[in-house]
Amino acid sequence: MIKGIVFDLDGTLYRGTEPVPGAADFVREARRQGRRCLFVTNRASRTPETVCAQLNDLGIESGPDDVLTAAQATAEYIGGGSVFMIGGEGLKRALEQHGVRLTDHQPDCVVVGYDPDLTYEKLAQACLLILGGARFIGTNPDRIINTERGALPGTGSLLAALETATRVKPTIIGKPEPRIMTMALARMGLSPEQVLAVGDNLDTDIPAGSRAGMRTALMLTGVSTRADLAAAPVQPDWIAADYPTLTTLMNGG
Ligand SMILES: [Mg+2]
Repeated sequence: MIKGIVFDLDGTLYRGTEPVPGAADFVREARRQGRRCLFVTNRASRTPETVCAQLNDLGIESGPDDVLTAAQATAEYIGGGSVFMIGGEGLKRALEQHGVRLTDHQPDCVVVGYDPDLTYEKLAQACLLILGGARFIGTNPDRIINTERGALPGTGSLLAALETATRVKPTIIGKPEPRIMTMALARMGLSPEQVLAVGDNLDTDIPAGSRAGMRTALMLTGVSTRADLAAAPVQPDWIAADYPTLTTLMNGG
């Protein structure tokens, strides 16, 4: 029996500013059946309040407690101490809420997320601090970020620059690593076998859910296609072209 569902956002519940057809009804019906729904995003620059405002606009009722961002998961993982941060408002807020002190002097960790105000100086400082022994942590490995201008460098690209410079590999919190999913389980108070992970990305959503021990469903509403399945690192338990199909699969065929 599935008691909880972890949803990816972009490509799964919406595409850009457009809702994915049937997504809002699916979430409403899942809740009516007593299933806890949690919205888990690799994007770390936005606050949970911003994310749930967008979901509410799309007809998916949610409060900040229904959202888990990679920024929150990263802050929870670090849990305290001091950090030099490259990142946006969402990451800054999450770190401060977890009692993490932001500093550029002898921090315990260097934390890197998506930062629209990135400068060479920030990269230079992060590089020196990592070489000086600070732990190197990334909110997510997303290579690109899709914008109205097209695909732009994402957090993974910033991490790659620092990894090349320092030869130190970052610890990644977001999908495809299972850490963020394990935190989602703790938030829901459920065990992995009770939870379904729903996402559109075979490289991130499906491996993250599977490694955390959840059942997984690939929605063909976003980036991954049936043709991508052959080369996928982990096969999903279910594949659905749309939400009515996912409902049928969940109800046992
Ligand atoms: Mg997605």
